[in-house]
Amino acid sequence: MNRIWIPLAAALCAAAPAHAQHWGYDGHEGPQHWQAMNPDWAVCAAGQQQSPINLTNALQANFAPAMIEWADETAGIVVDNGHTVQVGVENAGGVTIGGRFYNLLQFHFHAASEHRINGRQAPMEVHFVHQSEAGDLAVIGVMVERGDALTTLDSVWAAMPADSHASPGIAARLHLNEFLPVDRESFRYQGSLTTPPCSEIVSWTVLTHPVTATPGQIETFETRHPESFRPVQPLNRRYVLVTDE
Ligand SMILES: [Zn+2]
Repeated sequence: MNRIWIPLAAALCAAAPAHAQHWGYDGHEGPQHWQAMNPDWAVCAAGQQQSPINLTNALQANFAPAMIEWADETAGIVVDNGHTVQVGVENAGGVTIGGRFYNLLQFHFHAASEHRINGRQAPMEVHFVHQSEAGDLAVIGVMVERGDALTTLDSVWAAMPADSHASPGIAARLHLNEFLPVDRESFRYQGSLTTPPCSEIVSWTVLTHPVTATPGQIETFETRHPESFRPVQPLNRRYVLVTDE
């Protein structure tokens, strides 16, 4: 059987488009193997500024906070890319960090959280991915704990396609500010994408205070993409800063 199966598997892999390399979150496709799956992903293991990290022992900093200015109401295109549920947006505002504006492109989910705060993993984390005109990324991470409902999540889940092969859904009225806690104190550090190719191009802002969603709302995503988080990475020669609102 092996003599039949090995060439067949090789032929299928060769026919697949480059981007369809099947990285995942466990087994032989899991984070320990990402660097070996594609030469362009070597930084996943060799990098010194990888994400996520455990956010602890932060240094109090006095610089200006991240100024988040998202649209009050926006529409979104909801896809399941096989790794997460992702919502693409346009003209939905952005964030100003260090005098530079970053435009909000998309947000997506991880369960459980990727970052940890003083060692603690939250049930879910939302990543709001922003890009500047120069192409660098600023991602805002928001922890989601179990509690009261997060109404806009219902709109996202309602538009979620049946699976990763189904057509995108449209969420007409998203209120992104529901994802922001009242207190905007945040951790800041320099890191990477948390998925291949793990590029070290991300200015991270992780809010120290969580928002809440109901256990059922969290379970809807957990069921679709369980264990969809990369383990924490070494801090190496980096600092974690914490700023007041
Ligand atoms: Zn993410």
